[in-house]
Amino acid sequence: MSYLDEIRLLEESDKRYIWHPFTQMKDWTGEKPVIIAEGRGCFLKDVHGKWYLDGVSSLWVNIHGHRKQEIDNAIREQLDKIAHSTLLGLANIPAIKLAERLIGLTDKSFPGLTPRLSKVFYSDNGSTAVEVALKMAYQYWLHKGVSGRNSFLSLKNGYHGDTLGAVSVGGIEIFHSTFSPLLFKTHKASSPYCYRCGFSKTFPECSLACLKEMEEILKNHSPEIAAVVIEPLVQAAGGMIIWPEGYLKGVRELCNAYDVLLIADEVATGFGRTGKMFACAHESIVPDIMCLSKGITNGYLPLAVTLTTDNVYNAFLGEFRDLKTFFHGHSYTGNPLACAAALACLEIFEQENTLQHMEQKSALLADKLRDISGLLHAGDARSIGLMAAIELVEDKSSKRAYPWEEKMGWKVAFNARETGVLIRPLGNVIVIMPPLGIRDDDLNLLMDLIKKSIITATERK
Ligand SMILES: *Cc1c(COP(=O)(O)O)cnc(C)c1O
Repeated sequence: MSYLDEIRLLEESDKRYIWHPFTQMKDWTGEKPVIIAEGRGCFLKDVHGKWYLDGVSSLWVNIHGHRKQEIDNAIREQLDKIAHSTLLGLANIPAIKLAERLIGLTDKSFPGLTPRLSKVFYSDNGSTAVEVALKMAYQYWLHKGVSGRNSFLSLKNGYHGDTLGAVSVGGIEIFHSTFSPLLFKTHKASSPYCYRCGFSKTFPECSLACLKEMEEILKNHSPEIAAVVIEPLVQAAGGMIIWPEGYLKGVRELCNAYDVLLIADEVATGFGRTGKMFACAHESIVPDIMCLSKGITNGYLPLAVTLTTDNVYNAFLGEFRDLKTFFHGHSYTGNPLACAAALACLEIFEQENTLQHMEQKSALLADKLRDISGLLHAGDARSIGLMAAIELVEDKSSKRAYPWEEKMGWKVAFNARETGVLIRPLGNVIVIMPPLGIRDDDLNLLMDLIKKSIITATERK
């Protein structure tokens, strides 16, 4: 069989057997799929040998680039020992070392701040990290002898994963409305979305009116609320909404004042994405529970952690017969291969000074965005660290969005693919999230090609 025949068979089998996530399969089966065969650094190669820039870090998980020698080796070394054993009733070496390392990392990122994160609960993806957090917070109050904390306060435009608990605290209408009969009740506060402010105000003259609204909800409902659940600093899947200064700190203060726990879902923002190791560090706050996943293994293997404090952990301590045990766990919890990859990933941050180099790269990205923001249909261009978004609008002065049926974001992404860039939009929002290790010239190229793709999609009819 010739190589081209082999590729054709792969394409056919993909369409015959795979149901792709978040994908209208009727569209998919009518198109030619890009089948990835290889990766190196910030590039992906398809089966035809065409190279693409990985403009969204393989859906936000890659940090240091693909085929990172140190991580490849760490996994191989662990493979020579054992691939998997369980954390239910047993411990394993990489899981122990990684937990210690993660707590060291939070201590370093939040020096001298309270509360202190001190315990690590493992699971295997961002959604499960959030499920763990929700159940932990709920059961914490039961153990404290406080009943009625059956609800959560979360934000409009928030996204915390696709399992039903995570969807319940989510706030993206098109993802969540279908399942609403299955979801538990939550309180929703406005998103601090300055470009489309729900209060028609402007920062900083608004004095954070959105935060006042959150306070009103807490004033009236805090006895029902186990925790406030947020994506600190950036609501990622909701459209890369970057918060105004002071909002995050304000949320922490409200949680203290009304005695509810704070869950920070750093699944997207964690591991340097925003320029600091954790987004919470930008406003010097520490949550009571923190969820991490995506970047943790450099996108090599599925792994997640839910970190918490002695205060939460201690509430679960008791005699066996008291049934205070946290009844939750997954088959692949604390997988040794994934933990070994994560340890190597964290090591690279130090060896390559990843965070120090990001300052200049973030500035370069911001510069390029400023230029793109001048385009006729670029309504807003925003970034923090190496997380960036361009919100496309049909009419710039009224901020009128393109009708979603027009798939303008997708048109830009398809144009970009032709030029050798892989990106995945969120509606009308073009997301740019390259690996943190991207070289300057590759970042320049990425931004120039995206700019061209936007012009082709929006200005040339
Ligand atoms: C991606 C994401 C999740 C879900 O993670 P999965 O690994 O896809 O389940 C949760 N929270 C945030 C903030 C995310 O960006």
